[in-house]
Amino acid sequence: MQAQKNWQNVVEMTAKNYTCGYSACGKDIGSEKGWFHQRNDNGAIDGLIQICPFCKRPTFFDLETGTQVPGVSLGNVVKNLPTEIETIWSEIRESTSHGAYSSAVLTGRKLLMHIGVAQGAKEGLSFLEYVNYLVDNHYAPPNSKEWVDKIRSHGNEANHEIVIKKKEDAEEIMTFLEMLLKFIYEFPARAGVKA
Ligand SMILES: [Zn+2]
Repeated sequence: MQAQKNWQNVVEMTAKNYTCGYSACGKDIGSEKGWFHQRNDNGAIDGLIQICPFCKRPTFFDLETGTQVPGVSLGNVVKNLPTEIETIWSEIRESTSHGAYSSAVLTGRKLLMHIGVAQGAKEGLSFLEYVNYLVDNHYAPPNSKEWVDKIRSHGNEANHEIVIKKKEDAEEIMTFLEMLLKFIYEFPARAGVKA
């Protein structure tokens, strides 16, 4: 999309500030280009499509429902991830931009277990055992006890249970994951050490 600098028939609009919902961009921007939807019964403008000046991708605002598509994802881009992990991490982030927090939590747990095994934990342990392994092996900072305990408390759910997750639950596990990913993959790469 980067190369496509020019959408056709774009109109100048009142500047709108928002966070670009595409997870690879995610910039706080002001956009004054795009299109608007005007009702023909009362002339009210009830929809906007704004173009991000950085990544050139459009974001749709439904002014009646107050929704933004794509919405803003939780978490941040982490550099130097292996391809598979990068794909999963962006899927997790992407699902939060659609309000799919249960999916984000379930996939997040799976990724956390994968990281645990990659860092030397045995295969086939429970989610809780992987969290404990990573904490015991000093992958969590000393002041993180409170939210690690929250992640632990959710980890007691039985495998067959379906529990609907909220934004806060997704935030908890994603904060832990992002920190692990940075610590294991991004920082060593910056210092020139191979992960
Ligand atoms: Zn953008």
